[in-house]
Amino acid sequence: MSGGRDITVALTGNPNAGKSSLFNAITGAHQRVGNFPGVTIEKHEGYVDYQGRRITVVDLPGTYSLTPFSPEEIVTRRFIIDEKPDVVVNVVEGANLERNLLLTVQLMEMEVELLVALNMIDEVEEKGISIDVKQLQQLLGSHIVPTSARQKRGIEALIDHIARVADGRIGIAKNKLAFSPEVERALDKIAGLLSHERELDGANHRWLAIKLLENDREAYGLVRQHPVWVRVELALQEAIIECERMHRTDPEVLITEDRQAFIRGAMQECVGNPHAGKATLTDRIDTVVLNRVLGLPIFLAVVWGIFQMTFSLGAPLTRGLEYLFMLAAGALAPRLPDPLARSILVDGILSGVGGVVVFLPNIVLLFIGLSFLEASGYMARAAFVIDKVMHRFGLHGKSFIPMVTGFGCSIPAIMATRTLKSRSDRLATIMAIPFMSCGAKLPLYVLLAGAFFPPATAANVMFGIYLLGIAVGLWTAWMLKSTVLKSESEPFVMELPPYRWPTLASVVFQARMKAVMYLKKAGTLILAAVMVIWAASNFPRSREVDAGLARDKARIEASGAGIDQKEHAVRLAESKAQAAQLEYSVAGRAGRLLEPLISPLGFDWRIGIALVTGLAAKEVVVSTLGTIVSIGHAGNQPADLATILRSDPAFSPATALSLMVFVLLYIPCVASMGVMKKEVGAWKPVLAYTGYVVLVAWIAAFITYRLALLMT
Ligand code: GDP
Ligand code: MG
Repeated sequence: MSGGRDITVALTGNPNAGKSSLFNAITGAHQRVGNFPGVTIEKHEGYVDYQGRRITVVDLPGTYSLTPFSPEEIVTRRFIIDEKPDVVVNVVEGANLERNLLLTVQLMEMEVELLVALNMIDEVEEKGISIDVKQLQQLLGSHIVPTSARQKRGIEALIDHIARVADGRIGIAKNKLAFSPEVERALDKIAGLLSHERELDGANHRWLAIKLLENDREAYGLVRQHPVWVRVELALQEAIIECERMHRTDPEVLITEDRQAFIRGAMQECVGNPHAGKATLTDRIDTVVLNRVLGLPIFLAVVWGIFQMTFSLGAPLTRGLEYLFMLAAGALAPRLPDPLARSILVDGILSGVGGVVVFLPNIVLLFIGLSFLEASGYMARAAFVIDKVMHRFGLHGKSFIPMVTGFGCSIPAIMATRTLKSRSDRLATIMAIPFMSCGAKLPLYVLLAGAFFPPATAANVMFGIYLLGIAVGLWTAWMLKSTVLKSESEPFVMELPPYRWPTLASVVFQARMKAVMYLKKAGTLILAAVMVIWAASNFPRSREVDAGLARDKARIEASGAGIDQKEHAVRLAESKAQAAQLEYSVAGRAGRLLEPLISPLGFDWRIGIALVTGLAAKEVVVSTLGTIVSIGHAGNQPADLATILRSDPAFSPATALSLMVFVLLYIPCVASMGVMKKEVGAWKPVLAYTGYVVLVAWIAAFITYRLALLMT
């Protein structure tokens, strides 16, 4: 290739990165010195002729940043914006990458045609620092040429690459820094507003928006002259409020932190011993937490700790609530003489809705734990550690954050996959998310683990269930990625934000929000489901059963027993009649129909009903069990659900395990399937997925049940 058009190149970099030395090495004797307009900063300009074209090189002043504070920064920025050089060469000091990359990242934001000269490569080699240049190229989205201006190494290659970049013959996709979601939202909005302003046509709107959020003087000056300013200013204020609410800080700080998080992540990924020598507290914590060997066990220990806390702190609170509901049942039941009305209240509302509400403490504790991990910055580390594992499953660590969100609820988790650029990564992640056990399934685990296992084992059982979910989810993603969703994995920086002690206010805020949402769900969706289930389990009425009950009552009345004894006998007869009525009801018949399919898993027809109703919302599995099992429960005293289940012959530890596994894996709730359809774009794959999920759940529960039977 020769005879292409001429090229202008700007050299940028931190002071003392070796710009002038490189400039000399490239241009040799062809130099002249002038001044940048309006300032006393010298402008060195030179050229080199390469393959029949002239490459003009301008040595820009050294800067650490592109904020318009110092004259050097202003000159550099204006030159890049106004003169539009064909290529911007960013000279970085190889042994000091972390500090140097701050400028690189800001050049990436400007979306210039970037080429990185990894200078002082001689020092890098001497100090034994290893840099994964190939990986770093992907992350920065620009070619990197190792150079040594002092030893005149890499100069030819640098010139050659300048020509290639200018011609667009580089073959590396530009990469964009992803800021925090609040910042990204504000950027989209502001850039959108700016793009409607005719006078700002040739400007880089996203970059201007970043600068505005950073309170950049020059950007303000530019945009303020135009009518669009009124709306931009409003959007800026909204962004400030939003960042304050979510992070207790302003967008400017957040943007700086996001840049540092990007750089820290890139350093961890591409540079051996990145913090040799000086290390901040964050760096020192990271050397332990991100350690190749210790990282994964530490992560598992942290998650295990959260489950221990969820269970052991939650258990006494749950028992307290249960006691309150029992008191209420005991006080209210005798006042309702009509058995059907009594059944609505005690078996329906108190067992069904109450049975879910009592797990409120566990839910709140789990969410406090998760939001603590998120806000402290540890979650990003976990994602970094998991990244290595995820790559083996064809996924990226970035998929991990949506997956963790899935421990709360699948719906926001599925929507959070929008941060993934590659469609195949997104789809695989979406299909893995429903296996991340959501908060709605927690009550069932707490109930069954607590009822059938000693307290010390219960939390471990739950932990095991969650691990199983993660394993099946990753396996599913891997299967998809290695067959229908095959694709190149995209370069991503795993951002590592600074550690931060979450404020009490934000933790309380999160916890209260979750509590309110849970109670709202219990009072609306779950209450409605409970009423439907109650009706389906009580109707149609069996005349035979009613007549039998009347006969029994008459016989008891006629007997010569004492008042107390008589009352007890009537209760027993009523319970027995209710159990018979349940079998006769719509729900009973539906359950019977299902029974052959699920009896190999150790489930009787009542569990079958609970599984079907659980499709509305997973908490309803517990509600249904609460309603149905207490309808048939022949006890004199109101008892808590765990006690009732333990005394029920159809339940055993093996059934409990099998049921937990089945509920963990089987069909996601209706709402999350709707969101899935929206994100995937069609029903067909979602329905195919549903079939797959049920099959997996059945097989896993079957194996669990058989193994548990063998061991107990
Ligand atoms: P500028 O401020 O970016 O223009 O940096 P200079 O070109 O003035 O270089 C600063 C110092 O770094 C000088 O002492 C150079 O000799 C030295 N230097 C420049 N490039 C290299 C290199 O590749 N290797 C080593 N070891 N030193 C270099
Ligand atoms: Mg210089």
